[in-house]
Amino acid sequence: MGLRRVALNLAAMGAVVLGTICLPFIVAFSVVSDALLIRRLARAPCPRCGVALGRPAVESARQCWQEELRRIRLQNPGVRLRVIGKWELVCANCQSTYVVIPSCRNPATLRPGPAA
Ligand SMILES: [Zn+2]
Repeated sequence: MGLRRVALNLAAMGAVVLGTICLPFIVAFSVVSDALLIRRLARAPCPRCGVALGRPAVESARQCWQEELRRIRLQNPGVRLRVIGKWELVCANCQSTYVVIPSCRNPATLRPGPAA
């Protein structure tokens, strides 16, 4: 076994060990960042009517996206998906719709939704 092969094996083992150690932190980070985003969006005023969007609207937008993602996964078994999350928020006061992309640089940005 050449030195290069040994190095490659060590690198692969290192990646597996590191991934196993880091996974709980990655999961915790994603849970916390989702919770912070939900709180921030819930407090954000609707750009059209100025009323706070509220937690129920944000939670339901997130849940809709998760159901959509589940549907996409079921339709594409065995495929490693690369999809961008998209929450469609509806203001409970004026029914304006907004799109939130949690993975973008400014996740709390409210973009006008399809029916806005
Ligand atoms: Zn509104």
